[in-house]
Amino acid sequence: MKVERPKLTFWEKTYLPQILKGMWLTLSHLPRRTFTRQYPEEKPVLYGDYRGVPTLVKDPEQRVKCVSCQLCEFVCPPKAIRITPGFRDDQAADANVEKEPQEFVIDMLRCIYCGYCEEVCPEEAIFLKTDFALAGYSREQMLFDKEKLLELGGVHEDSIWKWKNKGTPPPGTPGVERKGGQ
Ligand code: SF4
Ligand code: SF4
Repeated sequence: MKVERPKLTFWEKTYLPQILKGMWLTLSHLPRRTFTRQYPEEKPVLYGDYRGVPTLVKDPEQRVKCVSCQLCEFVCPPKAIRITPGFRDDQAADANVEKEPQEFVIDMLRCIYCGYCEEVCPEEAIFLKTDFALAGYSREQMLFDKEKLLELGGVHEDSIWKWKNKGTPPPGTPGVERKGGQ
């Protein structure tokens, strides 16, 4: 396909009208109010359900809500989550929860704050906060482990508190036998 080039006038060939137009546009902005934000002293206003850094939360009794189902790891588009599942201590009051992550790492350099992990979590154990300015001196420092994620997430009070009224089932209760025995 042949594209016809428009024929330029004499003035257009000199580029002067375009240069003057550009300069006029720049000058016309000078008397206007400045809108440069003095970040980080001046924080931006975050609207709506802004999605920032993902964190893990504890329930009001300081128990890790995550049950290590690995759904978030599965859906995470950039594969930023790495979970090593483990079992709850047999002697713990909430041993019937069975699983909790032995390790839970989110690579914040990979995370794109999409919120899929929060959406998919059946336990409401992972939440995106509004923090977005993360910094580190090395790539390793940007790998947030379980302790760091729980520290950032803190305690979350909500109606999803699956194990609240469930005591530890007596030994031998069908369906609660441990497979790993850890
Ligand atoms: S917010 Fe998105 S990219 Fe970040 S950890 Fe969750 S699922 Fe992965
Ligand atoms: S944070 Fe939620 S989705 Fe991810 S492993 Fe834990 S319980 Fe499952």
